[in-house]
Amino acid sequence: MESIIIESESEMMAFGKQIGLSANPGDIFGLIGDLGAGKTHFTKGFVLGNHCDKPVTSPTFSLIHEYEGGSSPIFHFDLYRLESASELLEIGWEDYLEMGGICIVEWADKFTELMPEKIKWLKIELLDDQKRLIKELIGP
Ligand code: ADP
Ligand code: MG
Repeated sequence: MESIIIESESEMMAFGKQIGLSANPGDIFGLIGDLGAGKTHFTKGFVLGNHCDKPVTSPTFSLIHEYEGGSSPIFHFDLYRLESASELLEIGWEDYLEMGGICIVEWADKFTELMPEKIKWLKIELLDDQKRLIKELIGP
């Protein structure tokens, strides 16, 4: 995939689901995009694709939500409110990376220095109120 146009919220969830179905334990996804781009809706679909039916909500305030019960545990981060890389280390970032689950990280581009080499970057651009452009990036 190089880039894809998404026309609606439900298409975003279907896209996330497709990526979730083919993801493997240990994978990490860095989601780049403005507020309201659809990072959390992508993740909702992704978690469904991982065969977990727990409701996904934004971890903006708690920084991380964990979804167990699917094919792989999923650690869903939102780094929007974090101010420094050291705060991320304090919440156990390196331990999460070692746990063998799947990490999905909204705003991962704020702390690229802490992101592992293998991270898959997805950038979501807002084209209009419904339309989004998703691009796979080599780096942020
Ligand atoms: P983010 O996590 O990037 O801040 P959210 O997924 O929380 O974004 O919110 C996206 C908002 O945009 C939601 O209100 C959703 O209903 C709306 N929306 C409209 N079209 C789309 C689309 N194509 N994909 C994702 N969300 C969309
Ligand atoms: Mg979000």
